[in-house]
Amino acid sequence: MRYNIPMKEKIIAIIGGGAGGMLCAHALAAGGASGVVLVERGARLGRKLSATGNGQGNVTNLRMDEGHYFSDDPAKVGRILREFSPADLLEYFGALGGLFESDEQGRVYPCSRQAAAVTDLLRFALDRAGVKCLSAHTVDAISAEKGRHVLRFAEGGTLTADLVVFATGGQAAKNFGTDGKGYALARSLGHTVTPLFPALVQLKTDTAHIRGLKGVRVNCLVRAFDGQKETRHARGDVIFTDYGVSGNAIFLLSSHLTDAASPRLTLDFLPDRTEKELTVFLQKKASFCPRESLLGCVLPGALGRAVLRRAAEENGGGFMPDEAARLVKNYALRVTGTLGFDGAQVTRGGVPLSETDEGLQSLRAKNVYFCGEILNVDGECGGYNLHWAFASAMRVARDILRRTGQFAPIKEKV
Ligand SMILES: Cc1cc2nc3c(=O)[nH]c(=O)nc-3n(C[C@H](O)[C@H](O)[C@H](O)COP(=O)(O)OP(=O)(O)OC[C@H]3O[C@@H](n4cnc5c(N)ncnc54)[C@H](O)[C@@H]3O)c2cc1C
Repeated sequence: MRYNIPMKEKIIAIIGGGAGGMLCAHALAAGGASGVVLVERGARLGRKLSATGNGQGNVTNLRMDEGHYFSDDPAKVGRILREFSPADLLEYFGALGGLFESDEQGRVYPCSRQAAAVTDLLRFALDRAGVKCLSAHTVDAISAEKGRHVLRFAEGGTLTADLVVFATGGQAAKNFGTDGKGYALARSLGHTVTPLFPALVQLKTDTAHIRGLKGVRVNCLVRAFDGQKETRHARGDVIFTDYGVSGNAIFLLSSHLTDAASPRLTLDFLPDRTEKELTVFLQKKASFCPRESLLGCVLPGALGRAVLRRAAEENGGGFMPDEAARLVKNYALRVTGTLGFDGAQVTRGGVPLSETDEGLQSLRAKNVYFCGEILNVDGECGGYNLHWAFASAMRVARDILRRTGQFAPIKEKV
């Protein structure tokens, strides 16, 4: 089976109908390109996008700069972000019919709080712009033939394209179609891939001091260390599990620990009190309160008991309120691993930015581009990863339109 497209038309094949691929395809078509074919292995476009932000769709963050990203070229990331800022993204989605609002942390969501509604904006816009979508087609191999690219589908058949955009995502959450196949395809074209790690992921820790705490949620200040060096801190929810810790503060910090040599965490359960204040308070309380109730009305019951048990252990069985105060402010946990790519939201690592030019065109293979998570760029929790997918996709679309002489202001065709 050969996918049938008029011969005279230049074919731009976009591999991956996720966040970046959909926006890239639409921007190309809206900018005047014809022959855009969006290839997606899943039965539907944008399945992952529809699941983002716990189904609410945290599409970007108003506090945007390259400091929120990990990559091999932060300056290039910064230039791409400035070219397509959160305001630009919201204007673009606004023209497609979306309405958005932000919270106190700058996170932007559709007013409906439904991620699937954002996917629909893009799907309907692709329809209106006449983009050909090939769903249920998995690109299994790519090869060069007479200056063009032949995409071979796992389901059978080929598509020959003049230009190929890789928007295949990374290796995290393979239930959404992202099993790392894009890296193998990129390697087959001569690209390298930096070491890959799961990021924005639950952490495994030593469990001796968190036994019995499964399901307990605390809002605390968490510090991430690599050895003795503090790499980042965050305030937010921590949820204890039977393997370690989860929660939004952990997701945020996991990105700073996933590739650390000697990762550990400390939890400050009462960030608004000093250790000195707490020591004085607990010493006074210990004079009239039974030992097992010392942390009552201070911490959730199970957590208070775990802290007191550990304080006693670390004191050879003795009871010292100042030791309890120290642990409330500084509960150390050694990180032993992560829940892996299946539990992760994004992939750390990928095709290095240094193997692409300013327009994100490959420096190794002619007429090949990259956007989104397949590149060696990952962001913190809070809308940064979707924004990178969208901004890098727009960079690619603009570069292709400029190169092919079709550049026109990109606006929605009604
Ligand atoms: C549960 C979850 C929640 C998240 N929440 C947020 C959030 O709220 N905010 C945020 O900023 N980020 C969030 N992220 C991260 C964000 O979704 C991704 O970083 C982003 O979608 C990456 O965009 P992308 O276009 O590069 O790839 P993706 O959106 O992953 O899309 C890649 C597409 O390529 C397809 N594909 C892959 N290989 C092939 C192939 N060989 N042939 C054909 N098709 C192929 C896949 O099926 C997939 O549809 C979340 C991730 C997960 C898993």
